[in-house]
Amino acid sequence: MAKVSINLATGSIQKEDIIVGIDLGTTNSLVAFIDPDKNPKVINDTGKGVLVPSIVHFGSTGEIKVGNEAKDFLITDPQNTVFSVKRLLGRSYADVKNYQNFFSYKIIDDDSESLVKIKVGDKFYTPIELSGLILKELKERAEHALKTPVNRAVITVPAYFNDSQRQATRDAGKLAGLDVLRIVNEPTAASLAYGIGLNPEETKTVAVYDLGGGTFDVSILQIQNGIFEVLSTNGDTFLGGDDFDRAIADYWIEKNNIDKTELAQNRELTQQLRLKAEEAKKSFAHQSIFNQQIGEIWCTIDRNTFEDLILPKVQQTIDSCQNALKDAKLTIDQIDEVIMVGGSTRTALVKKMVSEFFGRPVHDAVNPDEVVALGAAIQADVLAGNRSDILLLDVTPLSLGIETMGGLMDTIIPRNSKIPTKAGRQYTTSKDGQVNMKIAVYQGERDLISENRKLAEFELKGIPSMPAGFPKVDINFILNADGILKIQAIELRSGVKQEVEVKPAYGINDDLVEQMLMDSITHAKDDVSARMLIEAKTEAEQIIYQVERFMEKNGTLLNAEEISETNIHVEALKVALSTGDKDLIHNKIDNLNNYTRPFAERVMDVAIATAMKGKSIE
Ligand code: ADP
Ligand code: MG
Repeated sequence: MAKVSINLATGSIQKEDIIVGIDLGTTNSLVAFIDPDKNPKVINDTGKGVLVPSIVHFGSTGEIKVGNEAKDFLITDPQNTVFSVKRLLGRSYADVKNYQNFFSYKIIDDDSESLVKIKVGDKFYTPIELSGLILKELKERAEHALKTPVNRAVITVPAYFNDSQRQATRDAGKLAGLDVLRIVNEPTAASLAYGIGLNPEETKTVAVYDLGGGTFDVSILQIQNGIFEVLSTNGDTFLGGDDFDRAIADYWIEKNNIDKTELAQNRELTQQLRLKAEEAKKSFAHQSIFNQQIGEIWCTIDRNTFEDLILPKVQQTIDSCQNALKDAKLTIDQIDEVIMVGGSTRTALVKKMVSEFFGRPVHDAVNPDEVVALGAAIQADVLAGNRSDILLLDVTPLSLGIETMGGLMDTIIPRNSKIPTKAGRQYTTSKDGQVNMKIAVYQGERDLISENRKLAEFELKGIPSMPAGFPKVDINFILNADGILKIQAIELRSGVKQEVEVKPAYGINDDLVEQMLMDSITHAKDDVSARMLIEAKTEAEQIIYQVERFMEKNGTLLNAEEISETNIHVEALKVALSTGDKDLIHNKIDNLNNYTRPFAERVMDVAIATAMKGKSIE
């Protein structure tokens, strides 16, 4: 790959344009930037506060509220209020079905490995769209506060996020009208906020302890030559400050002899207790006893009691730290720095136990709610080429990916990835008995391959004949330091393999790269809508295919009414398909799925149950 200057690689379309750093959190989100004095600063859009609760409410007349304004609706209108959407980002229903009870809104159960959707009223939303709404709110607040357009951002994700969750975060940014220059790990951003890793000469091993509202993770990072490597992560995605609040509320419920079954009916009181508990928890930062009332109910608790209540939870996080060290094959004395992240690390007991475990004082000078966003802003500044002190590595100027069903671009190596790099993903077939798979490789940022640059095409031949969705084809992209891209395709069950090499930089110049980046930003919204419609259509076509096949094979096991009812649902889906209305298509898919699922269970036919697995290729 040609050496590209960092400005080009980051798509410096408007040179003076600001780049923001965004912490898209499970509980709270926020945005930061580098002020004219070169200091990272969080954005507080007049009076609205710094933290934007990651909550979206859909009003009955179509208005959408994000943040604090949406929070109140958690009690009054829970079905239409979406929280914790980050937990669903890039996840399939199969991933989340075990904790569906956690959510008050409706997650579509299509029992498959395709990405989850959320139903609000009669509309279907993907977690990408919902996260996009939160990002859009942050973008607008930044624009309002800074009085300038904001089009480019660095967004953080947990270190343990997989490829699909990272891609989903990128897409959410795109939907919000943001050019996402890089997805950065939250612990990396936190280190940067403390200035750790900014000096390319230094080598350090850092533990980042992040206790938020509902999630906990600890990451061990090795920083060398300005490169951050995650050695290990550990944690619990259902442990956080909310558990502390619950512990206090439960304590009061017991002390006041409140009947639990009665309380379960009283949503409002439950919520009031929860909020009062959070207030008590936070008050222990400056007082040792909390004493208030909700009507007749005494809400009294002292700090020692609070600490006794939460001790087992905090101990659990310490056990995770132990495990993270073990996985990184390190001992405590090999950790150079410990960084505290997340609102819940303000609890004194947490700080004390973490500090004792690591045997050293922890870094807690930067506000733990803000530290990730501030670090993201620093990373943005580095990418903008504003910090000459930092080593800039060769990066890929354009994304590299392959064509999937419906002519969509599936990015495997995102642009701005450091090279050399390696990435891969698994695909499957779309038709029964499909023995060949066409693999077309593209370069570019657009969602439709027709708008991108084709680099290569080859055929993986000799896939054993199996039902659609059964073959497992690994496609790996290996981009070496000279910019040669090697594409490998392997069908895992049979071992058939095919490989080609291309040079993505061949025949492309800086102007063309810049033009391609520019186009991707101006078309971002239309592209994502087009992608979503194509994805809905592809899903519908696959399901119709599977159901029709199922009927052919197992029709005798269904009675006449079931057959005709299924046909009605299939016809309705076909009609919806012709309308090009994404929500209508999802609606009819949902109906057809709900109707036919019991048949599959009855006939014990795995084919239909495993239909729609992963992304498929024609
Ligand atoms: P996330 O990263 O999951 O979005 P945050 O880092 O914003 O979450 O943390 C939110 C949590 O921090 C909430 O549970 C909140 O009650 C807790 N929190 C905020 N301030 C304090 C405080 N002063 N003492 C204890 N906990 C706090
Ligand atoms: Mg966080």
